[in-house]
Amino acid sequence: MSYKAQEQSLLDDDLYREIILEHYARPAHRKKLENPTHWEEGLNPSCGDEVEIALQVKDGVIEDVGFQGHGCSISLASASMLTTLLLGKTVDQARQLCGGFKEWMLDRECSEPSVDIEDLEALEGVRRYPVRIKCALLPWNTFLGALEQGES
Ligand code: ZN
Repeated sequence: MSYKAQEQSLLDDDLYREIILEHYARPAHRKKLENPTHWEEGLNPSCGDEVEIALQVKDGVIEDVGFQGHGCSISLASASMLTTLLLGKTVDQARQLCGGFKEWMLDRECSEPSVDIEDLEALEGVRRYPVRIKCALLPWNTFLGALEQGES
């Protein structure tokens, strides 16, 4: 199936389409941070998605987060949802949420995420398409990479 057809099929579900397209049309926290403490960029060559995640972490709390880049609706909606979910969380909570989300995306046996991922449940349909899982996970892996890069 072509990428375009996969995206169409994913978006056939009304509820999911609405949430994903809302984030895609009006992404949250799509901005440049002035003095990020942590920064990383990620690429998903199979789809052409590019995302940069920048964080302002103070005393173990994510005080600000911004992303930039371009890509498909799944990758950008995922980045918008990630930034919304992780803003204000501690680094430990953020790592836990990342772990729970990635497990749910990658493990077919895992029927429900072990953490409260809010709007990200709209990405459920993506789990049927392994190539698109890379789109959904790109911002998450990039975020984890940024945490590793930071001066801590
Ligand atoms: Zn993509």
